[in-house]
Amino acid sequence: MSRTEQSSAAGQDLDFWDFVSCAICHFPFATSQKGPPAVPFWLTECGHVVCNNHLNPDRSCAKCGDQGIELIPLQRNMDPPMSDWFRSLPHAIDSIANAAKVGTDT
Ligand SMILES: [Zn+2]
Ligand SMILES: [Zn+2]
Repeated sequence: MSRTEQSSAAGQDLDFWDFVSCAICHFPFATSQKGPPAVPFWLTECGHVVCNNHLNPDRSCAKCGDQGIELIPLQRNMDPPMSDWFRSLPHAIDSIANAAKVGTDT
């Protein structure tokens, strides 16, 4: 909570899209700054992101094996209720960003 909010002028599309990738093959969602992703991506109810190649047809999570989960197509301009599913993701991404930023921790 100590971070001041960054200017939102340039940040309409959240930067965390750059960190979103398939949990299985790590194919990046954001292959380019503009334009649609190369393949469809899916967000699972359990909070994992998989690309279309690793989408299980039986609605189980390819990452953690959860059964009967909800899947929603991942898109940059998700509706607010859907983006709420990402609450855990910025958390993880913040750790990644911190790790990258610190670097000289050892
Ligand atoms: Zn994949
Ligand atoms: Zn999962």
